[in-house]
Amino acid sequence: MIWHRLRSDEIDHELIWLSVSLLAVVGACAWILLRLPWPGCIFHAVTGLPCLTCGGTRCAIALAHGNFLRAFSSNPLIFSAAVFAGLFNIYAAVVLTARLPRLRLPPLPQNMARWLRSAGLLVLAGNWLYLVLFLG
Ligand SMILES: [Zn+2]
Repeated sequence: MIWHRLRSDEIDHELIWLSVSLLAVVGACAWILLRLPWPGCIFHAVTGLPCLTCGGTRCAIALAHGNFLRAFSSNPLIFSAAVFAGLFNIYAAVVLTARLPRLRLPPLPQNMARWLRSAGLLVLAGNWLYLVLFLG
């Protein structure tokens, strides 16, 4: 990992993804305040099986109530993504506010990138298997 000052020609990932996160939170709050119906899962309705994101709403609600175990058990992958997003948002808010150098990953060797893609697919498959077996 490399820390460096953001150049004018670089994408400001911290600003973009922090904005997206804040908009998602505002949208979710508006959804709840407007008492809109919970969205159903089309994949589950058609196949009878959970999709990769089934349990995500329950996970978010449990996280909002500080129930981390229930959030994790609702969908471990969504829980992990939410925790990562929370940590990233804290980092992004700090570097944006204090105008600090940004953290970037150097280009990965091709075999390492291939290995990471394979590991990512295994994580997705493992999460889906968990959802099918335990939340089916
Ligand atoms: Zn689903």
